[in-house]
Amino acid sequence: MENQQGATPDRMQDIISLCKRRGFIFPNSEIYGGLNAVFDYGPLGVEFKNNVKRAWWEAMTRMRDDVVGLDGGILMARRIWQASGHEEVFTDPMVDCTNCKKRFRADHVIEDFGDLSTCPNCGLKGTLTEPRQFNLMFKTFMGPVEEDAAMVYLRPETAQSIYVNFQSVQASMRKRLPFGIAQIGKAFRNEISPGNFTYRTREFEQMEMQYFIPPEQEQQWFDYWRAQRWQWYLDLGMTESHLMWHTHDAKELAHYARAAVDVYYEFPFGFKEIEGIHDRTDWDLRRHTEFSGKDLSYFDDQEKRRYIPFIIETSVGADRSTLAFLCDAYHEEEVEGDKRVVLRLHKRLAPVKVAVMPLSKKEGLVELAHAVHDGIRSVGMTQYDETGGAIGRRYRRQDEIGTPFCVTVDFQSLEDNQVTIRERDSMAQRRVAIPELRAILAAELA
Ligand code: ATP
Repeated sequence: MENQQGATPDRMQDIISLCKRRGFIFPNSEIYGGLNAVFDYGPLGVEFKNNVKRAWWEAMTRMRDDVVGLDGGILMARRIWQASGHEEVFTDPMVDCTNCKKRFRADHVIEDFGDLSTCPNCGLKGTLTEPRQFNLMFKTFMGPVEEDAAMVYLRPETAQSIYVNFQSVQASMRKRLPFGIAQIGKAFRNEISPGNFTYRTREFEQMEMQYFIPPEQEQQWFDYWRAQRWQWYLDLGMTESHLMWHTHDAKELAHYARAAVDVYYEFPFGFKEIEGIHDRTDWDLRRHTEFSGKDLSYFDDQEKRRYIPFIIETSVGADRSTLAFLCDAYHEEEVEGDKRVVLRLHKRLAPVKVAVMPLSKKEGLVELAHAVHDGIRSVGMTQYDETGGAIGRRYRRQDEIGTPFCVTVDFQSLEDNQVTIRERDSMAQRRVAIPELRAILAAELA
């Protein structure tokens, strides 16, 4: 068995085509020619991404006492984006090619080609314009009149609704510092150069957690959350050598941050950011205090002191991390002279946990297979596969979507009340008694 996983752009094409073919991810508005940089998750994609989000939510809230959840609105008061600095500085430098009319992010062109002398698309020299700043926030209008007063932004990040709800959450949940607020939700950015499939899109989901701390504990919690977030990827089966840290230097640091590190994943198109961990100091609550006129300081009744909490943020894209898990899981192998594509997804992330298949559509088998399927539905998402055809081919189809276990009902099953469990990674098979099947699978998937 040879592992042929390699980091090439061709590999990305293989993954994109698998996503389309097997119902993971489709281009948005496809029958109308598509809407650039927006994607739709198909039946398997929605299960997979939900599993990533659930794994994050569990690690960040359910398994801890000090982080609670929030689900804020996408639309928020415009003043919030003035306080946060987004209206003024949430911009990217943009250059246009006067020849081919393509638009690029100036910092990306410099990163990839060293300077702005040549157009990355048509290759002509001296055709790129001077960089201009472009605000990434989408605008829309509240109410019937499209006038400036009613203009609102679609949120470009979920974090701000956590900051503006800080006091409501703290008071209603009677939380003492340090504590955190976690949120999963949509964010929108009018990216100048989206691309690399779902890596950079204009509509995406973020999973963000803001941890509120006393000022003097800044370094300790920054280090703590770094370690926690790295471990989360490993716990979900990510290959550690495909991850690396990137520390922001003074030039890269956002206006609100004292320190920032990114988790980079090695995609087929290179090492790229999937998550950021930021030491935001007291910048956010101080700004919202100033702009809203409401005092957002915290009174520590044990230490009898009042202060504006500092914040450590962890921010990861649900779509980007899902894509990273997908790329990491994708393997092509040679099995007995045939190519096998297998998604070695962690069991918690796999969209389908168990597929039940009758060996043939003959009488008796189908009924038994349905009964076996009904008996195991509670172990997680299951699939009944009655497509027919050679069993080997049906196993390959399940391998391709990452299903950890297949259960086959054959003629022998009618006599001995046993079925075969076939395991995805090892391809090992074993016979088990039908009455024990549910408990065995539940233990395997726990
Ligand atoms: P980049 O430099 O790639 O534009 P960023 O540093 O602006 O990202 P943050 O503002 O820190 O990103 O957002 C936190 C996370 O949200 C990112 O690590 C990424 O996972 C996700 N994210 C940001 N922009 C997008 C996008 N356009 N499409 C998909 N995910 C995104």
